[in-house]
Amino acid sequence: MSASRVTQIAPASPATRITRIAPTPSGFLHLGNAVNFALISLLAARWDAQTVLRIDDMDSSRSRPEYVDDIFATLEWLEIPWTRGPRDRSEFERGFTMAARTDYYRSQLELLDASGLEIFACKCSRADLAATSGLLCAGDCRTAGHELVAGSTALRLRIPRGTVVRMNDSTIDLAEAHGDVVLWRRDGLPAYHLATVIEDRDLGVTDIVRGQDLLESSALHTWLAPHLGAENLARANFVHHALLTNEAGEKLSKSASAPDMRERTSSMRELVRSHAARLLPAS
Ligand SMILES: [Zn+2]
Repeated sequence: MSASRVTQIAPASPATRITRIAPTPSGFLHLGNAVNFALISLLAARWDAQTVLRIDDMDSSRSRPEYVDDIFATLEWLEIPWTRGPRDRSEFERGFTMAARTDYYRSQLELLDASGLEIFACKCSRADLAATSGLLCAGDCRTAGHELVAGSTALRLRIPRGTVVRMNDSTIDLAEAHGDVVLWRRDGLPAYHLATVIEDRDLGVTDIVRGQDLLESSALHTWLAPHLGAENLARANFVHHALLTNEAGEKLSKSASAPDMRERTSSMRELVRSHAARLLPAS
């Protein structure tokens, strides 16, 4: 008598779309951040997507508790819901801080190494780099076999020349845009690009909404994604929205005069919502 084997196949569930709100607690949020959150919220509703709140406090030297509190207060004031992630600063500090995952991010570098990308520790100082394009290693670090040591080397990735990514309606030459992109900073912290791709992979993100100043970063992330096992990110839908500017035409994120949102008035909230509605893509 042979035992029959029954394979149970779970009914296919419709694929869940996942987007994220990903602020950095390095200052009080300004109008541009608030509009980005509101736009993400509108698109998440349109897509029936889950929204994850991911606070990027990797650069702990710039992160402050009041900036984290400001993120939660702003989301509440804008009445923006999120499905996953911390509900307040206490939860964030207990279980969601990215600054505690440095060793984990570092372990993921092995995946890039194993996938055959050219990665090398670079000793070049800022002054050395300024003598070249500012993006490329200025010395012989690619062949020198330096160790990655906090305080003295950064880990860089040589993007093969001619690597081109099509994103939305743009063609981005990654080697030109990013040069020898830093994956691990000289100060011993993971670079933004590495930590972000790993987080977007682990959260299963399918839809990313960010300012158009990050278009070249998005192109890099989709190219890096398969090397880090992030197939979801390689296929992700990216929406890059126009940035708000002040009267002088400067981006709000770079403008010292950008007002923060701490007053949280109802008229400011209406302003945020009207900007977000204006930026909402037609489809
Ligand atoms: Zn170098």
